[in-house]
Amino acid sequence: MTNRPADCIFCKIIERQIPADILFEDDDLLAFRDIHPQAPFHALIIPKKHISTVNDIAEADAPLIGKMALRAQALAAEQGITESGFRLVMNCNQEGGQTVYHIHMHVLGGRQLKPGLG
Ligand code: 5GP
Ligand code: ZN
Repeated sequence: MTNRPADCIFCKIIERQIPADILFEDDDLLAFRDIHPQAPFHALIIPKKHISTVNDIAEADAPLIGKMALRAQALAAEQGITESGFRLVMNCNQEGGQTVYHIHMHVLGGRQLKPGLG
């Protein structure tokens, strides 16, 4: 299927080699709870295809990235935070604060998040 770097934690979660609290799965995406939640609800949405950084997203990946946003919308609805609000974040490379090099969308909600983005 996809080229999976042997040392990618999120590929290991996809392959069930390490456990995660999985919230959603289909052919393209996996969503699971962040191990160090920064808010009452903190999920990560990842593509099953290994893409290292936002810089590596190709034109052909556009539908996949769109599905990530739609899944965030659906997870927020399940959590009852559609109207109260939530935040989506994708960090890229060192100065963006990326620590896991398999793209992921953070979905944060369930409390008043601080204004500003650091
Ligand atoms: P980044 O800093 O790259 O934007 O976000 C990586 C996120 O992955 C962090 O919020 C971190 O807590 C989370 N994370 C790292 N390792 C694991 C893991 O093994 N399991 C889960 N569920 N989350 C992880
Ligand atoms: Zn990976």
